[in-house]
Amino acid sequence: MSKLHVLVLGAGFGGLEVAARLSDAAPDRIDVTVIDQNESFVFGYSKLDVMFGITRETWRSHYRDIARPSVTFCQERIVAIDPVAKTVRTTDNTHRADVLVIALGADLDVAATPGLTDHDEFYSVVGAERFASRIRDFDHGHAVIGVAGAPYKCPPAPSEVALMLHHVLSQRRKRADTQITIVSPYPTPIPPSPDTSTALLSEFEERGITFRGSNRMTAVAGDRKVITLEDGEELDYDLLFAVPRHKAPDVVSSLPAGNDGWVQVDPYTLLTEHADVYAIGDCADAPVPRAGVFAERAGAVVAEQILAKLDGRAVAPYDGYGSCYIDFGGGRVGRVEVTFMTSEGVRGGPFSPPSLAIGREKEAVGPARIAHWFGR
Ligand SMILES: Cc1cc2nc3c(=O)[nH]c(=O)nc-3n(C[C@H](O)[C@H](O)[C@H](O)COP(=O)(O)OP(=O)(O)OC[C@H]3O[C@@H](n4cnc5c(N)ncnc54)[C@H](O)[C@@H]3O)c2cc1C
Repeated sequence: MSKLHVLVLGAGFGGLEVAARLSDAAPDRIDVTVIDQNESFVFGYSKLDVMFGITRETWRSHYRDIARPSVTFCQERIVAIDPVAKTVRTTDNTHRADVLVIALGADLDVAATPGLTDHDEFYSVVGAERFASRIRDFDHGHAVIGVAGAPYKCPPAPSEVALMLHHVLSQRRKRADTQITIVSPYPTPIPPSPDTSTALLSEFEERGITFRGSNRMTAVAGDRKVITLEDGEELDYDLLFAVPRHKAPDVVSSLPAGNDGWVQVDPYTLLTEHADVYAIGDCADAPVPRAGVFAERAGAVVAEQILAKLDGRAVAPYDGYGSCYIDFGGGRVGRVEVTFMTSEGVRGGPFSPPSLAIGREKEAVGPARIAHWFGR
């Protein structure tokens, strides 16, 4: 019997999880090809580590080191997806599949905010690396963490930047000369988890960090060092940490779109309207935040569905569960669990308050994931 060929587009949290699960469960029955334009994987949180001098270099895991039976990695840029024929054209090849899993993440849409430039964002690796020296040199004035719109990757990241900045400025005895403000489209830092939001807001109050919720950054005037907020107010800054608007990668435009161009999926199966074509993670219009832990869980569910279909058995639906770490600065890390699709709606909690012990726990999670995904 010929093997099922699964083509995974994108080697991020979601795509790597699908590949690892299928490789573990059925290497003799399924071949997996993973395509990504990059040569290596970078954890989102390691960008913050580089910015704040916790690590000198961004931690990269090279895809050439994937050592899993039945998994082939191709470093190619995808230029067209045909979800009916299940073919994918790249700059180098045309790939055909029995099952397609689209896990292409979200792109930054810097141009969607007038005046915003690549120079202002810290969400890409290059952007984060630029901030390392700016943070080292920042010793007086107003730091503004400005979010241009939702959804955006890792909803806790703006709060983490504020708390980590407070910590490094306090260590350098510069905190009294500086102000820190967060501008967020959300009314509270983490709306699905009131306990987490309360903990963050109380830390902000203790540390003199201003949280301006239910607002967003709509324009930037870099020459005057001013951002405009949605309510029309202008806010001066000396150092801007911008979170640009996000958009689905252009290449998914051949798939039926849900809200704002994200790939439309059945939230419980993550199937698009095309048979055997799934979309997971940041590019999918599922009712979960854009975060690696949700993409990873979605990847596990899709792998299980592919296996269940092969075996002719039923499978539990996707529940939108995720457990996220939140850096409170100085090595203190909290943990929040949220399930987005229960019969009662979103269920937040439990929230584990920040501690050094959870900080150590978080340090172990990255290497464990790499060992699982890369088979090493
Ligand atoms: C500063 C920061 C901190 C973060 N911290 C956390 C955290 O602590 N916890 C957490 O869970 N999440 C965190 N995130 C969010 C997390 O990184 C993303 O939500 C997660 O990576 C999404 O997984 P994904 O598989 O959907 O997409 P991605 O991991 O983005 O993977 C998509 C892949 O598709 C590839 N791709 C896209 N287009 C093409 C194309 N045309 N051709 C070929 N390849 C293509 C990309 O190269 C990429 O490798 C953070 C993000 C940032 C920016």
